[in-house]
Amino acid sequence: MTDVPRTAEVVIVGGGIMGASAAYHLARKGCRDIVLLERDNLFGTETTAKAAGGLRYHFGTEINIRLSLLSLPMFDRFEEELGQPIDLRKCGYLFVLTRDADVQEFRKQMQLQLSLGVRTEWLEAEEVRRRLPLMVFPDALGGLWGPDDGIADTSGVVQGYIAGARRLGAMCLTDVEVIGIGIAGGRVAGVRTKNSEISCPRVVNAAGPWAAEIGRLTGIEIPVAPTRRQIFISTPILGVPADFPFVFDFAQSLYFHREGPGILTGMSNHEQKPGFDQSIDEGWEFTHLEAAAKRMPVLENAGIANHWAGLYEITPDAHPILGAVDELDGFYCLTGFSGHGFMHGPGAGFLLAEEILEGGAKTVDISILNLRRFQRGRLLHEYSVV
Ligand SMILES: Cc1cc2nc3c(=O)[nH]c(=O)nc-3n(C[C@H](O)[C@H](O)[C@H](O)COP(=O)(O)OP(=O)(O)OC[C@H]3O[C@@H](n4cnc5c(N)ncnc54)[C@H](O)[C@@H]3O)c2cc1C
Repeated sequence: MTDVPRTAEVVIVGGGIMGASAAYHLARKGCRDIVLLERDNLFGTETTAKAAGGLRYHFGTEINIRLSLLSLPMFDRFEEELGQPIDLRKCGYLFVLTRDADVQEFRKQMQLQLSLGVRTEWLEAEEVRRRLPLMVFPDALGGLWGPDDGIADTSGVVQGYIAGARRLGAMCLTDVEVIGIGIAGGRVAGVRTKNSEISCPRVVNAAGPWAAEIGRLTGIEIPVAPTRRQIFISTPILGVPADFPFVFDFAQSLYFHREGPGILTGMSNHEQKPGFDQSIDEGWEFTHLEAAAKRMPVLENAGIANHWAGLYEITPDAHPILGAVDELDGFYCLTGFSGHGFMHGPGAGFLLAEEILEGGAKTVDISILNLRRFQRGRLLHEYSVV
């Protein structure tokens, strides 16, 4: 049985990218008494392990772009800072647009991105087709190219942060499930696990798709809906160039990138009902693969190397819930990244460490990501959700 300490300064619930990043950044800022609790027997095997690994600057709201501006350079420095390789590949993202409304919106977003210092480039339809000789886009109207975007290894990032946090004194434990949160005098007093209690003044909810359940332990509603998303990886395909980009067929929420000698593809089912089912929906997989093979005919002759389903942790406005929870002193949210949490994990963990230790996040103003926006009806709107 894992030895759980009796006291802590901060307890983090969940050992995916969010919990791991928060533990590391809290420790790096000098917090010495951190306990991270993960109920699985390994770190990062839930949503984080199911991600496509994509990293992009392209978003439609300033806050999402600022989270990318903070986070993506942290991936660039990761190996040097933490000594852990993460297979970072700057293959670029190419959003292919096939609807007039998307062209208008993406052109607007491009101006916002440029104004914030993001390198981004508009491609005419012919140029999109020229850059994607293995794909069929007769209906392309144009595309947005992000040369500094790419992919990285999700497991490497989690392991790097956990090892880094431990070197700095954080206690990161597996096989420990949080089943209760103690409250006294209107503030957090501790957490309960199956066999132990930890007295602590601060708890971070980094439970990803299970964040609403952790909220319920305090009586606070956290609007995060677990929603199934699927991925398929093909057997090797000859002739896929080494610099094949991360391609998004935006209208179909359909994406592709090179994964070893094969192709990884995913397509979001926007009719998917919330729930914790992570079995593969074969009907949807068929729909997905039909659409994928139409765009990339070489997939027709490929087999399955791997496929899986995982859970997006979706909020009503597809933006994260990040920061202190006003209703309960000592309770913090680091969740609800709605399909973008791998890329925003480094920066979000850093900002949460500022919020906890410095009385507020200073590097990026995260006040609009506070939980209270839902009660006040101040929802954000992100067009570039996949
Ligand atoms: C198919 C798919 C593709 C994706 N592609 C991308 C992408 O390309 N780029 C990108 O940026 N993002 C992507 N995402 C989203 C990204 O994976 C998530 O936003 C991110 O991993 C969320 O991390 P997390 O730490 O919040 O959640 P998780 O990784 O799920 O971690 C939460 C942890 O909390 C633990 N936990 C839950 N309850 C308890 C409890 N009571 N006690 C202790 N532990 C508990 C769980 O076991 C889990 O390990 C994708 C997601 C999916 C499903």
